[in-house]
Amino acid sequence: MEKKSIDWANLGFAYMETDKRYVSYYKDGAWDEGALISDPSVTMSECACVLQYAQTCFEGLKAYTTEDGHIVTFRPDMNGERMEASAARLEMPAFPKERFVEAVARVVKANAAYVPPYGSGATLYIRPFMYGKNAVIGVKPADEFEFRIFCTPVGPYFKGGIKPLTICVSDFDRAAPHGTGHIKAGLNYAMSLHAIVTAHKAGFDENMDLAPGTRTKVEETGGANFLFVTKDNTVVTPKSDSILPSITRRSLVHVAKEYLGLKVEEREVYFDEVKDFAECGLCGTAAVISPVGKIVDHGKEICLPSGMSEMGPVTKKLYETLTGIQMGRIQAPEGWIQVIE
Ligand SMILES: *Cc1c(COP(=O)(O)O)cnc(C)c1O
Repeated sequence: MEKKSIDWANLGFAYMETDKRYVSYYKDGAWDEGALISDPSVTMSECACVLQYAQTCFEGLKAYTTEDGHIVTFRPDMNGERMEASAARLEMPAFPKERFVEAVARVVKANAAYVPPYGSGATLYIRPFMYGKNAVIGVKPADEFEFRIFCTPVGPYFKGGIKPLTICVSDFDRAAPHGTGHIKAGLNYAMSLHAIVTAHKAGFDENMDLAPGTRTKVEETGGANFLFVTKDNTVVTPKSDSILPSITRRSLVHVAKEYLGLKVEEREVYFDEVKDFAECGLCGTAAVISPVGKIVDHGKEICLPSGMSEMGPVTKKLYETLTGIQMGRIQAPEGWIQVIE
């Protein structure tokens, strides 16, 4: 298979149209058999439920070329499971996770020419999503839905080296108590846009969201979970019902325990404790872990001992082990790697 002529190392994180996408339609209480199609456009009623009432959820995962030349995806069953949960909370029918995993494989295979080669640092980003498509004006769920998966090659996250982030404590709440913070809904992102634009204008890379209501506990950021390391090398990650359960974070917790022999605490984390941590990172599919060097709370600075020029030592070991597993350099736990071809 001939690769497309793409300057892999200089790709950013942007949409590029590829050859094929997967589409399945839900109508009269059932999903159709689904198909790979070429048309990247969507046409729908101006009154589609997704346009009026934002009935939509999504997923994000990646395909990688391993050291020995295979194309693989990382734990797609977890994304399928999470999307079932997101759909349920938004009154959408589940797209069964077994079919989800199969559809991901079909899209990647059909676009194999866009999967960046091993060593380029680039990856194929896969975006499954689902939305209410028929016209709805009275507030109620749609009864016709489209499930779709497209993919797009994306560049190395740490282009020009790893640069720790400076983040600020947000004045906005990301999630309401008992709300939708734990599902991957477009609406969580719609209302995060003002918060992130505000943070960027003030010179920060990201927001630290505190627990809604009390605002004393650390939750996450707009699109990544926190992972802290204490001065005696314990990995600490916040636990809360309004955090999106990151697959990267859950995988890193396993790696910390089972591969690195570290102690891990998944528990409530008070903002007051943050000043005592040695390392801080943001985990998500995009970067695996982005190190945080500085956290600013309304002018009060917390400078992590790991500094502003590199990842802390434990963060780095976690990063190297998980990316090693994804790229096939390190033996993966059973079931983590789906070989596409
Ligand atoms: C997608 C997402 C994450 C990261 O999850 P991964 O499965 O690791 O990619 C974290 N927080 C939020 C709010 C998200 O939407």
